[in-house]
Amino acid sequence: PLIGVKLHILTRKTLGGIQTDLDSRALTADGTPVEGLYAAGEVAGFGGGGVHGYNALEGTFLGGCLFSGRAAGRHAARRTA
Ligand SMILES: Cc1cc2nc3c(=O)[nH]c(=O)nc-3n(C[C@H](O)[C@H](O)[C@H](O)COP(=O)(O)OP(=O)(O)OC[C@H]3O[C@@H](n4cnc5c(N)ncnc54)[C@H](O)[C@@H]3O)c2cc1C
Repeated sequence: PLIGVKLHILTRKTLGGIQTDLDSRALTADGTPVEGLYAAGEVAGFGGGGVHGYNALEGTFLGGCLFSGRAAGRHAARRTA
């Protein structure tokens, strides 16, 4: 018999959007860093893909998110030192 299932759709992974350099600085379309603007974690492509390659393997997201946040924090600290 057919059954009805009520679904609640949500977005689980964004897989990025903002291009960054190795200091997690957000880049414009021509690759120029935007002064004082950083992007880390999923929004910068580190939730899937990123340092782990193009595939979004399970369990590989948090490491890249933390790594890119660390890079952003370190660069920001150098700027203000
Ligand atoms: C169900 C599930 C299971 C997962 N399991 C694993 C796993 O086992 N291993 C693994 O490595 N990864 C896992 N992941 C992926 C991992 O959790 C995420 O990639 C990671 O948490 C993303 O971190 P983030 O800081 O980039 O983004 P988020 O954790 O999404 O943080 C973004 C934050 O920005 C806030 N925000 C949004 N808009 C605004 C706004 N306009 N103003 C202010 N704040 C705003 C949000 O409220 C949120 O707190 C899982 C993800 C999900 C959904």
